[in-house]
Amino acid sequence: MNVLITGGAGFIGSHLCDALLAAGHHVVCVDNCLTGSRDNVAHLQDHSRFRLVHHDVIEPYAGLGTADVEAIFHLASPASPVGYRTYSIETMLVNSIGTIHMLRLAAERGARFLLTSTSEVYGDPQVHPQTEEYWGNVNPIGLRSCYDEAKRFAEAATFEWIRKHDVDARVVRIFNTYGPRNQLDDGRVVPNFITQALRGEPITIYGDGGQTRSFAYVSDLVDGLQRVMFGDGLQGEVFNLGNPGEFTILEFAKLVLEVTGSRSSLEYRPLLFSDDPARRRPDITKVKARLGWEPRVPLREGLAPTVAWYREQLGR
Ligand code: NAD
Ligand code: UDP
Repeated sequence: MNVLITGGAGFIGSHLCDALLAAGHHVVCVDNCLTGSRDNVAHLQDHSRFRLVHHDVIEPYAGLGTADVEAIFHLASPASPVGYRTYSIETMLVNSIGTIHMLRLAAERGARFLLTSTSEVYGDPQVHPQTEEYWGNVNPIGLRSCYDEAKRFAEAATFEWIRKHDVDARVVRIFNTYGPRNQLDDGRVVPNFITQALRGEPITIYGDGGQTRSFAYVSDLVDGLQRVMFGDGLQGEVFNLGNPGEFTILEFAKLVLEVTGSRSSLEYRPLLFSDDPARRRPDITKVKARLGWEPRVPLREGLAPTVAWYREQLGR
């Protein structure tokens, strides 16, 4: 298939480019490198079925690779709390106007469309674990709302293009994902803790460390994205994609110390941003039943190649 990926030079997008090329697809990666990097796809630059186009999807796109585009993965958006606070307006624009541009393109070309939404649409959830039916608990004017509400708008827009233009679109809500190419300085807990442990610096725990997250390895996630995009009869379906293993941030810090062999101390700090979700864990019953998808890589196993990548980056 001819596939367009927005945000393809980012962490998840670059792994998706790799997987789609390995499966024989033609890939056009559209990215403005706001939070991603050309380095993530540098190894693909001479690949005959790959093109990188520098473009901001807030602007309409009718460039390279759109004439016969058959599938659009729309990933473009800052994703880390530090990233979307730094680029709050850009985050709202890419998820609103950028999403509409991509939906229009999908409608014009009759292409499939997949929106990468987020577990953040559940906000600080009052239902645990989170099912796709849950509507969420989001502060519309809080520090996270530039991301949460923008993604909720993107979901709403996707469903209007399904209803009004019959776009063959689906939505995935991604839970915390980790792995190589998640930028060292993007502020998320996995790059922070691993780089702090490897440098022998204190591990910065925000709050009391009792808040929980569930961590999916990037290869599992990319497998899920492809199943949702290429599965038939999935128009208008929403799927959680994440690993249901749930850890407190303190447990995660201790695991990182163990896996890296680091003797860093633990340093407690105030929460960086308000409305930090207290508990988060995906209910993946639906995606397992419909698509046979479930994560295969346990956290400890996925941390090994991840730590190796950060070690290499720090050694440069
Ligand atoms: P990332 O920041 O590494 O990748 C996002 C990419 O989008 C970057 O390459 C960035 O340069 C690009 N981008 C941003 N604005 C753009 C614009 N206006 N035009 C073109 N490109 C633009 O983040 P990621 O972790 O790979 O996340 C990818 C997608 O998955 C995002 O939509 C994010 O919201 C979603 N998601 C990720 C996670 C996670 O744990 N990584 C969790 C939930 C949802
Ligand atoms: N966190 C932390 N120390 C850090 C970075 C993050 O304790 O150096 C916490 C953060 O407060 C949150 C959790 O780890 O409770 C996950 O944060 P992240 O930024 O990775 O993503 P989120 O799930 O909040 O979007």
